[in-house]
Amino acid sequence: EGALAARMGRLGTESAFEVLARANALAAQGRDIINLGIGQPDFPTPPHIVEAAVRALRDGQHGYSPANGLPALREAVAADVRTYRGVEIDPGRVVIVPGGKVTMAFAMLLFGEAGAEILYPNPGFPIYESMIRFSGATPVPIPLYEASGFSFDADEVLSKITDRTRLIILNSPANPTGGVVPRAEFDNLVAGLERFPHVHVMSDEIYSRMTYDGERHVSLLDYESLRERLIVLDGWSKTYAMTGWRLGWGYWPAALVEPVTRLCINVHSCVNAPTQFAGIAALKGPQDAAEAMVAAFDERRAVIVDGLNRLPGVRCARPKGAFYAFPNIAGTGLDARTMQDRLLAEAGVAVIAGTSFGAHGEGFVRFSYANSIANIEAALGRVGDFLGSL
Ligand code: PLP
Repeated sequence: EGALAARMGRLGTESAFEVLARANALAAQGRDIINLGIGQPDFPTPPHIVEAAVRALRDGQHGYSPANGLPALREAVAADVRTYRGVEIDPGRVVIVPGGKVTMAFAMLLFGEAGAEILYPNPGFPIYESMIRFSGATPVPIPLYEASGFSFDADEVLSKITDRTRLIILNSPANPTGGVVPRAEFDNLVAGLERFPHVHVMSDEIYSRMTYDGERHVSLLDYESLRERLIVLDGWSKTYAMTGWRLGWGYWPAALVEPVTRLCINVHSCVNAPTQFAGIAALKGPQDAAEAMVAAFDERRAVIVDGLNRLPGVRCARPKGAFYAFPNIAGTGLDARTMQDRLLAEAGVAVIAGTSFGAHGEGFVRFSYANSIANIEAALGRVGDFLGSL
């Protein structure tokens, strides 16, 4: 990489994509692979959403649209936030982007530079640390522990804030742990943040609609005192099984709408219009398909958690959100990376090593249960046979 800018040496990746490529390569050789690695719903996008995009294409929606998103889509986001989060937001603060990731990437470009510190959950979505480093800022991990359901500890987060801290990234429900942060912990954090007015918060709420056991999603938008230094990341990928469409939204403080829109103009101009019309149909149309998907995930969650807990050396807490189980595998005697590689090569089951989500993920492996119950049961059988043969 000698010919490239130095920052490229700091850019990481998301190993779920690499494991997916290896799993696909093995499948192409005729191996029977069960993929519990990739984090995407195994359902198709609901047909009324697809139809809206097709109609938009036929209606001639082929040109540029506003860089911050179609007004009708931003209004639909505000209405959705009113329905599911119970708060009013100004559609003028919503910026539409090509996928949830882009809100995060832009937050890093707005806040990250040499000398700045950005706090992020570890284990957590690997792109956080990668993009923090890319921006030049120093990543400061917020360790998440199995014993507290992979929530953060507010006092521990506050203790890591310095004069150089610019941004704190939070994610609930979480990838890769399925953890949900209790309201009391958010209350404590937000109260403590009054002492640090120079710090912004980015709340990744992309799994907000996927909670179980009566757990209610807590949005950081609930906290009025935080509104002028809060960024919320959400999108359509998980809720509406639209990972490949590339559509997301961000809520931004009033002062940041113009700079982030300028980033949109410089980087991607706008999201293609047919996808935005699909996004409107998703938010304003019937929610039964989205709800049925969550019900299916809930059923599979029971199967995978019970199955994992029956395996020798494995222990798995009941995740309260998203569609991931994050079992502790320390008792098997294998480290996370060895477990990932050997399960793929020897058992034909793709999972992701906990260390792909940060150093604090050692001793854990991520199983995505966005797969059929038949496949989950077959995978558990294969993992059991593999562990029995050790
Ligand atoms: N945030 C988290 C926590 C995720 O798990 C993901 C996807 O895996 C994203 C953001 C990115 O979503 P999108 O596909 O909309 O960019």
